[in-house]
Amino acid sequence: MKKFTCRRCGNCCRWKGCVKVFPDEVDRIAAFLGVPAEKFIDEETRLTPDRMHLSLLEKEDGSCRWLSEENGVPACLIDPVKPRQCRDFPEKWHFPGWQDKCGGSFEED
Ligand code: SF4
Ligand code: SF4
Repeated sequence: MKKFTCRRCGNCCRWKGCVKVFPDEVDRIAAFLGVPAEKFIDEETRLTPDRMHLSLLEKEDGSCRWLSEENGVPACLIDPVKPRQCRDFPEKWHFPGWQDKCGGSFEED
């Protein structure tokens, strides 16, 4: 059985693109931040291009709004409640060539 070891390089939080958030995740993130879900949706999300889902906002460079790079150390500011999309990469989903951009690796358990 192979287990993925994340090197915490933060690259997957810097790629341009949507970070989908589903309703249960919106509730969890809003509760974690101590704000009403409606306020979180209004201020921190946008529609995906297909208008089917909500996505977290990005910074101007395309990286996720919740990526902190304090003292050069990448960290997710909502790590305990980060969306499924973030938790599942790359074990449950990935894309061709992902290993060239991800510092992690699969190792024998
Ligand atoms: S929510 Fe956290 S883990 Fe997900 S992309 Fe943003 S910074 Fe990265
Ligand atoms: S790109 Fe890979 S190694 Fe880097 S933080 Fe994301 S999953 Fe971990």
